[in-house]
Amino acid sequence: ALKAGIVGLPNVGKSTLFNAITQAGAESANYPFCTIDPNVGVVEVPDERLDKLTELIVPNKTVPTAFEFIDIAGIVKGASKGEGLGNKFLAHIREVDAIVHVVRCFQDENITHVSGKVDPLSDIQTINLELILADLDSVEKRIDRSRKNMKGGDKKYAQEVEVLERIKEALYEDKPVRSLELSDDEKLLIRDLHLLTIKPVLYAANVSEAEVANSDDNPYVKIVREFAASENAEVVPISAKVEAEIAELEGEDKAMFLEELGLEKSGLDRLIQAAYKLLGLYTYFTAGVQEVRAWTIRKGTKAPQAAGVIHTDFERGFIRAEVVSYEDLAAAGTMNAAKEKGQLRLEGKDYVVQDGDVMHFRFNV
Ligand code: GDP
Repeated sequence: ALKAGIVGLPNVGKSTLFNAITQAGAESANYPFCTIDPNVGVVEVPDERLDKLTELIVPNKTVPTAFEFIDIAGIVKGASKGEGLGNKFLAHIREVDAIVHVVRCFQDENITHVSGKVDPLSDIQTINLELILADLDSVEKRIDRSRKNMKGGDKKYAQEVEVLERIKEALYEDKPVRSLELSDDEKLLIRDLHLLTIKPVLYAANVSEAEVANSDDNPYVKIVREFAASENAEVVPISAKVEAEIAELEGEDKAMFLEELGLEKSGLDRLIQAAYKLLGLYTYFTAGVQEVRAWTIRKGTKAPQAAGVIHTDFERGFIRAEVVSYEDLAAAGTMNAAKEKGQLRLEGKDYVVQDGDVMHFRFNV
């Protein structure tokens, strides 16, 4: 499963948010492939299309798609030099697909701030600097090695040195690797370095309970937004404390509480959707009377590999897929009606699955 790692300085609200995530957690029986670990929270991805399909088909069971949040505590100033439990935590970041960076935007005199005052920009830069320094370390080591290998005359190493030098320069200017434009080939050359600052980032601006409905009035949130815009990152304002309360509620109680707070969706739902988008993920659906279910694929996945997300046998024995877009099916009302309108297509192994496709796979066992 795809994973987003939660990072941030101490006392910014990471654990509070992470506890809300595990509290709201997914029915683990539905997701046997997900990790069982106290630092991993599995969340279901809210999707209105899935609700609509459930209404149309009335299946025995509906299963949303899910992904994992990982709690990566312990990054402090100096982590890249081994301060605190530094290196160990940086290693955890290497394994995630995206980073959710929690930033303190709430004022509370009872809760100490590691640097003495609430200062989101300095907090962000402290964490980012540790990640940049860790990357610089990996890049410099690799440059040395590639230069030695270059003497053998293999062009690959010359190319590698060229791209690594560009990355090094950016890191020296405090720029994350994600801000560089790298070709697919270049990305492949450096993939095994598992750089930290190449991963997409989302800033979760943790505001106080009182500000949650008008979070953009909070001056700290503005600062975070400005910074994020400079590196093309998203910001999701959230109140970790409120999320912890919401996570204990369900159905109508949850809806009522959100309404009281003046919110349309919980911050967690917005965070999940933003992280999903950040990861460049698509959802396709399977829709039968037994089960209506959402599945996650990466943009650009072809039909057999999409089938493989359900089961490896589906991929191995793939013959064809019957496909109707969610929009067509929702408008037609039933699968048969969509078929009569000629909206049900047969697609082969080169078909690139689109977001919202409703799929039925034919395969050999
Ligand atoms: P972590 O060190 O980043 O994991 O931070 P915690 O989640 O443990 O939070 C540190 C303290 O800040 C705890 O006492 C939380 O209750 C408190 N806290 C977290 N979010 C908020 C918030 O939105 N408002 C207020 N007033 N306190 C919060």
